[in-house]
Amino acid sequence: MAFSEETVKKAWSRAEGKCECKRDRHDHNTTKCNKLLVWENRGREGRGAWEAHHMNANGGDSMSNCEILCWDCHKKTGSFGS
Ligand SMILES: [Zn+2]
Ligand SMILES: [Zn+2]
Repeated sequence: MAFSEETVKKAWSRAEGKCECKRDRHDHNTTKCNKLLVWENRGREGRGAWEAHHMNANGGDSMSNCEILCWDCHKKTGSFGS
């Protein structure tokens, strides 16, 4: 199960290149993480690193199930579920 490039690009522009995480058990300073991300650094560590995350592990590969997460949030969240 993986998002298409097109879906990820749309989700990325929806997110305006920022982390969309709103999980309150993460230590964001605000309700939303909003960390600025770098498109080229998808799937690897480093400045602006991020990954496209399935909000619902069984929710399919549509854009509405695609969440742009910074690397820190992605690691805390894990591969499945929230
Ligand atoms: Zn984040
Ligand atoms: Zn987070």
